[in-house]
Amino acid sequence: MRTVAQLADSVGGLTGKRVLVRSDLNVPLDGARITDDGRIRASVTTIADLRGRGAKVVVMAHLGRPKGEPEDRYSLAPAARRLGELLSAEVSLATDTVGESATAAVDAMSDGDVVVVENVRFNPGETSKDDAERGAFADQLAALGDVFVSDGFGVVHRKQASVYDIAHRLPNAAGGLVLGEIDVLRRLTEDPDRPYVVVLGGSKVSDKLGVIESLLTKADTLLIGGGMVFTFLKAQGHEVGASLLEEDQLDAVRGYLAQADDAGVEIVLPTDVVVASELKEDTPATVVAADSMPADQIGLDIGPESARQFTDVLAGAHTVFWNGPMGVFEMAEFAAGTRAVAQALTEIDGLSVVGGGDSASAVRKLGFGDDQFGHISTGGGASLEYLEGKTLPGIDVLTP
Ligand code: ADP
Ligand code: MG
Repeated sequence: MRTVAQLADSVGGLTGKRVLVRSDLNVPLDGARITDDGRIRASVTTIADLRGRGAKVVVMAHLGRPKGEPEDRYSLAPAARRLGELLSAEVSLATDTVGESATAAVDAMSDGDVVVVENVRFNPGETSKDDAERGAFADQLAALGDVFVSDGFGVVHRKQASVYDIAHRLPNAAGGLVLGEIDVLRRLTEDPDRPYVVVLGGSKVSDKLGVIESLLTKADTLLIGGGMVFTFLKAQGHEVGASLLEEDQLDAVRGYLAQADDAGVEIVLPTDVVVASELKEDTPATVVAADSMPADQIGLDIGPESARQFTDVLAGAHTVFWNGPMGVFEMAEFAAGTRAVAQALTEIDGLSVVGGGDSASAVRKLGFGDDQFGHISTGGGASLEYLEGKTLPGIDVLTP
């Protein structure tokens, strides 16, 4: 992968050039209010660098999952506004992605200007499985730029027009955000400082099967919490009440437990669980033993004893990767487990990495600062796929 500086050298400088940047501005919104602007803040450095080089910066990004046509609630307007505030510069938003508005906005740019084109996923070509349809949209995108910079780490595992196909059409480079992410993830896969502890939680086991399998041979200890823990407890023959459960993953999970045993990797499951009769704010919560959950209750967080045990294991670690909240941290009653793990990560003597959109939001919502962690990844799926050893199409496609 080339850096922006190397790309600039190869095309005789970026002054006056239209640089198409794929950023990840996919932030959580409450109406038009951004509840966590972490990804926008992470995108600023590359955009500011390009402006500093005199480029005309055309930003491509997506928000949410629109179905290939414009939808007001998925407009990039709030993200473009926030980007302008963070850059202390005017950022204009085209009302379409590759249509008249975008073309006119780009034609009118001066050196150092920033234009955000509207949500790339308003166009069916962006995510199409059909190479020709995606390619046709990538042609339209490519017409807006002279060179391409891939800086949306959260989407590099996607074979999409603005991530993948565009790189076949323009001289390209990886932005600093992507290079930084890859650098940290490489440290997790190549000879990590030991003990190497991985904490996994979140809602679905099936999302994380691949990474569990690959980490079974690399990590020293796996701490498991969150909604996925109940599939593990059930696999061990315990009652899990009305908790999240993926029946179809029970065999896979049994396999992992056996595999971990053989490999000498410790899988630590919670010994106590915070339960409630429904998932609602202010529902009375109680703590029960993990091997005797009442049949009418839902497990919504790891219990205090488990939190202490997880914290103890983490205290001795030199490398930690954490993906997935330990409980339904969005509600105060079920946030203690996630808070304990986050706190333990801030005290690691070594490298601590938080991956996953909800995990990153959780640490910020719970009041931790980004600088208390070694690295907070902007990409959940992308970081997991990298750790699984998969090829990321948006990285693979870039000029070496
Ligand atoms: P990330 O985005 O960090 O990869 P996930 O998307 O896998 O994490 O999971 C995040 C979600 O998991 C959160 O919204 C949280 O409420 C939910 N969650 C955590 N524990 C539980 C649980 N015990 N039951 C149901 N949902 C849970
Ligand atoms: Mg998530």
